[in-house]
This record gives sequence, C-alpha cells and structure tokens, in this order.
Amino acid sequence: MRASRSPTTCGRGSAAGPGNSAPPRSPYRWAADEWAQSLVAPERFETIAVAAPGADDLVDGSVLLRVLAGGICGSDVPNFRGNRALVATEDGGLAARLPGYPLHEVVGDVVASRDPAVEVGTRVVGWATGLNGLDEYVVTRGDSVQSYEPQWAPTTAVMLQPLACALYAVEQLGDIAGAGVTVLGQGPLGVLFSHVLKQAGAARVTGVDRVDRSAHRATFDIDDVVHATTARWVGTLTDADRPDVVVECIGHQVATLTHAIDAIRFGGRIFYFGVPDDPVYPMPMNTFLRKNLTLILGFTIERRRVLREADAYLTRFPDLTTAYVTDVLPAARAQEAFATAAHPESHRLKVVLDMTTT
Ligand SMILES: [Zn+2]
Repeated sequence: MRASRSPTTCGRGSAAGPGNSAPPRSPYRWAADEWAQSLVAPERFETIAVAAPGADDLVDGSVLLRVLAGGICGSDVPNFRGNRALVATEDGGLAARLPGYPLHEVVGDVVASRDPAVEVGTRVVGWATGLNGLDEYVVTRGDSVQSYEPQWAPTTAVMLQPLACALYAVEQLGDIAGAGVTVLGQGPLGVLFSHVLKQAGAARVTGVDRVDRSAHRATFDIDDVVHATTARWVGTLTDADRPDVVVECIGHQVATLTHAIDAIRFGGRIFYFGVPDDPVYPMPMNTFLRKNLTLILGFTIERRRVLREADAYLTRFPDLTTAYVTDVLPAARAQEAFATAAHPESHRLKVVLDMTTT
C-alpha cells in the first residue's frame, strides 16, 4: 500500500525533480507503483513515478479510475503556461508538482468506488475533479463521471466531456429558436457550440476565428465562417446583421467580452464560456445598459445528466467524432501535446492523450 502521493524515486520519499534524481529509464512504471506527468516549470513536464492511489484513498462519493485517455482543454493551457497556480517549488492541490496536473477531461475504467451510482468495472467519461488526470490512476468525484455506450475508443469518447459542457451552456441560454447566433472562436469548444446551437433551432450560426475554419463548416453546421479577429468582425457589422445571441469561446484575454457587447443587438444574450484567466474583466457598462443585455456564465453542473445527453447526441451525429479529435499523442509526450493544443491551426481541433501507450 502506498503512503503518500508525493513524487517518489526508487528509494521513495525524495522528490523526483530536476537535479536530484537520474532520469527515468522508461517513462512508464520505472520503479514505483505508477507514472504521472508533473509540471515542474511553466510549459515543462517531467515523467515521475508516484505511489498509486488505492481504494483506501477514497472518501464517500469518490471513485478511483485507471485513466485511458485525456483531452486537453483550453482552460488547461494557462495552467500549463504557469499563468495560474504554478510556482515550481509549490506542492499540493492545484499546484505545480501535483502529479497529473493540469488535465480534467478523462476517460477511465473504475477500479474502486465509494459512490453507489458508479460501479467498479465500468468505463466512464467526465471530469478529473482535482485537475490531475495526467496520471495512470486518479481519484475523482463519482458525480462527475458517467458510463457511456462503448462504441467509441477512449480517445474519441473523451469528447463527450466538452460536448456535455456545450450542451449545458446552450441549455442555460434558454430558447434560441430562430435566433441569429455568433460564436466567437471556432476551436474545439466553439465548433461544438456551433453544431449544438444549430440543432437547438438557431436560424443562422456564424463562427468567427482568427484562423480559417472553413474546412469545418459542413461537419459542424456553421452557416457563415468568418476568418477575422473579433475586433475586425465587429467593425464590419451593420445594424441588420447584429446577432441575437453571442457565445464567447475564445477566452484568455479580456477584450472579446467588449467585442461581444459591441456586436450584439438590443436585448441580446451573451454566454461567456470557460474559466476566466483574470479575476476582474472590464466591461462597457453603459453599452450593456443601453442595449438591455443579458450576460450568462457558469460552471457545468448536473454532470452525469449532461454527459448522458452528450452520449445520446454523439450517437445521433457520429460524423462529429472523426472530425473532432485531430491529434492523439501518448501520455509521455504530454509536453508536445499541450504545446500543440496551445497553438491553433485551421485543421486542428481536439488534442487528446492516449494514456495506454508509450
Ligand atoms: Zn474542459
């Protein structure tokens, strides 16, 4: 049985960081109970050996997964870059050197459970709630994972997690039948929003992105693909083409919220999707007031329900799977995978880590 989740070397107990241990002979199972990737400095992972968590690490409501696949999310990228919660010597929750940080979109097999709704032996998709899924084994909350139809490989099924987020967010927008909708950002989340909004009854969906996303137009049901920065796009709008609804899927800076507010028509609704990088965002309050706007944000909750809905949705639209996951890399190449995900390109959507291969 393991004693702690601190990184261990073969001798156990000392940190397997740079300068105080020989590099691992193999990135996997090189002397201790399991491997994990550990962020030791901004944009720099090392493979470490750690004592694997066991059933005795579970509290009521938690489950232990053997992780099979992980999807890199836009909200992981600031953590990878060290813009949030990263000091190289820091330890513990949400810190650098926390084994497996930062990754939350996972598929895994349940190997132990203290959640009566999650059975041992089932394959599930959902959240690593400690943002530490870049690890062979992870403890997470049972209410944040859901079994799914076993028709997809884990590296495909991991897309059910971002799809669940898009479905939940569109639900929060309320009735959008007949609305003209613009989605700012057509990356891995933006294209899912475009598709889901069209299915929810939007009359017209426009996708704005600074890289040319026209190759995804047909698959994701995007009526108008605009290849421009949001600032330039706003500058071209006339009153006749102001959207009723704007979904912001770019993030990582504060300017595009103002572009959304400037672009939208009187009485419109804005969903600002994703985890803000900055604690405070400036906002043109007077424009917001004069236009009688509504701004919606929020975390995805009711996770099991929306994961089930995502499963049903993907079963209806299986073509999304082949277009969506564009890059699959082994977990040992996490650093390259994160760097790839952080640099948008026209063809690229989801970058996924296969945790079962070296
Ligand atoms: Zn995510």
